Parts: sequence; C-alpha cells; structure tokens
Amino acid sequence: MTLPSSEQLPQLGEFGLITRIADRVAVDGNVITGIGDDGAVTALTPGMQLVTSTDMLLEDIHFRRMWHDPYHLGRKSLAVSISDIAAMGAIPRWALLSLALPVGLSLDFVDRFMDGFLTLAGEHRVSLIGGDTCASKSGLVISVTIMGEQYPETIIRRTGAVAGDDIWVTGTLGDAALALQVVEKGGDTPLASRLLDPTPRVSAALVLAESGYATALIDVSDGILADFGHIAEQSHVGGQLFVEELPLSGSLRTEAAIMAVNPRQLALSGGEDYELCFTAHRVNREKIRENMKKCGVEVTRIGIVTPPTGIIALNSDGSRFSCLAAGFNHF
Ligand code: ADP
Ligand code: MG
Repeated sequence: MTLPSSEQLPQLGEFGLITRIADRVAVDGNVITGIGDDGAVTALTPGMQLVTSTDMLLEDIHFRRMWHDPYHLGRKSLAVSISDIAAMGAIPRWALLSLALPVGLSLDFVDRFMDGFLTLAGEHRVSLIGGDTCASKSGLVISVTIMGEQYPETIIRRTGAVAGDDIWVTGTLGDAALALQVVEKGGDTPLASRLLDPTPRVSAALVLAESGYATALIDVSDGILADFGHIAEQSHVGGQLFVEELPLSGSLRTEAAIMAVNPRQLALSGGEDYELCFTAHRVNREKIRENMKKCGVEVTRIGIVTPPTGIIALNSDGSRFSCLAAGFNHF
C-alpha cells in the first residue's frame, strides 16, 4: 500500500497504521487468525509446549533515536526477543508488537522500523500476529511479545548446571559494550553493528537443545558475569571464569587499545552481545565443538561450574581478576 508522501500518522490514524502494517505481513501456515481480530489464533506443533517471553525497549534507556536508525531499531526490537526464545532451546514462531509512538514521529520512521522488524521476522520465519498501537506523550516505547515452541524434553532452562560442568560461550564478548561507548560519544566503529544489529544465535541454540548436551542455557544480554550469575543462582552453583579465555574479537582488541580500556573488563560486564552462555558435562567437549562448528558458530570454554561459593574471575596464574563493574541493572 503506497500512500501520498504528505500523509503522516495523524491523517492515517491508528487503524490506518494497523492496516498498513497488516498489509505487509506474510501469511504463514501455522497462523490461523492473524492481525485484525480481538485475538490471534495459532496452532502449536503437536507434542510441543509454548515458550513465551516479552521485552520492552524504551527510548533514551535502551536506545537513542540519535544513533539507532529506524530500520536497525526494528530488527533489534525483534532480535532481542528471538534471542530469549533461542535461550530456552525453543523455535521462535509468533510475535506481538506494541508501539507507543511519540506525537510528531514521521510515518517514514514507522515504515522503516517495520521494514527492519519484518525483514528479521522473515529471516527467522517468525509471524507478526498482533500487537497494540497508541500515542506516547514522551518517548518511543516498543514492546515485543514472542512465542516459540519446543518438545518438553528439549527445552533448556537456567536450572540444570552441575558443579564440575564446563562453562561455554558462543562468539565474542564485549563488542557491543565497546560500541556503546563509541556511539555515545558520536563516534563510529566497525563494532557498531554488534550493538545496533545483534544476531540471535537461533541455529546454535537449537543444535545444542537437540543434542541434549547443554545442562543450562542463557543469552548474554547483561554481561557474562551477570548472566552466568543467573544460571548459578537458579542452579544453586558457583563458578570460576577464566578471564584469559574470554573470546575477544580482533576489532575489540584494537579499539580497546586505542581507547585505553581493558577489553576483558568489557567482556566480563558489558551487555547486549546476545551470545549464548551454557554449561555442559566435560565428556561432551569435543561433540560440542563439532556441533557448533557445523552451524558456523565459534564456541569457547571459559570456565567451570563449582559448588555454590560465588562466582570468581581468575587470571591464568590462578590470581583473582578484579572486575570493575557488574552487569547492567535498571535500578
Ligand atoms: P483491540 O481494540 O481489540 O485491542 P486494536 O484496535 O488494538 O484491537 O487492534 C486491532 C488488531 O490489530 C488486533 O488484531 C491487534 O492485534 C492488531 N494490532 C494493533 N497494533 C498492532 C501493531 N503495532 N502490530 C501488529 N498488529 C497490531
Ligand atoms: Mg488494542
């Protein structure tokens, strides 16, 4: 549906905007009733359970319109939710999108936001099945509710880590945290895409889930220290993290040196990398490496699960690495 360029949100109205969004949504087989009714109707794959998660993104808290272009903001709004479903070992399927749009926001912004959102949805075969739309008297508010599904025995929780397990992480850590420091100052960095356009590790998570090797799994949104901390708390265990083993990208090493910051501090406590952190019995080390290689994802063993005596970061000589900051906390 193309509208005259002079058309803006006030002329289009709430229902015009909903229609504009609905017209762009691809119809999927497992959606029985999508956007347009009081509720959406979907069909779970027989034998699977529903896995649900919701996230809010608030302007000037989670993003700034200054540096988040609308297309990538749309992608990221969905990516962080898809990452939560992946972190349960589940298959992302359906999403609801609620928007509170500031008065005066351009229709072009919303169109480009939806471009990003629906492009990422298409990449992961997630169907947009509904949402809510209203005006905001302050900033832009984006809320995404996502649903996925999985066989009960395949779902991976935060609760299954056992003392003696290895601690693993996919990809590299600290990239998004460094990028945030740069873009906050108005600069640019090759790491910006790690912050602005994170990749949810869906295929790696599903391979892990199907293999049954991971005893506990979480996505790294608040920093590995904080997020492994959630596994530790819920599994009633502790952990040792080997600081020198933390996977750092070449760009992070280079940029951190220029900025005179310790990349390992960023890797420990920087958020928003959306990598997977999981625990697994040591007998599965080689199989885990092989499996992750098959899906083209780097994986690194970064520590061991201990009895519940807290979480410590260690240098290679066994001395304590002192961490300057914990993970992100809203309050
Ligand atoms: P209700 O008054 O029952 O809450 P709405 O008028 O809010 O219904 O929404 C009408 C339909 O449009 C519903 O199917 C709803 O899920 C969908 N919808 C509303 N806003 C959005 C949005 N931002 N994205 C996708 N679907 C939306
Ligand atoms: Mg509504």
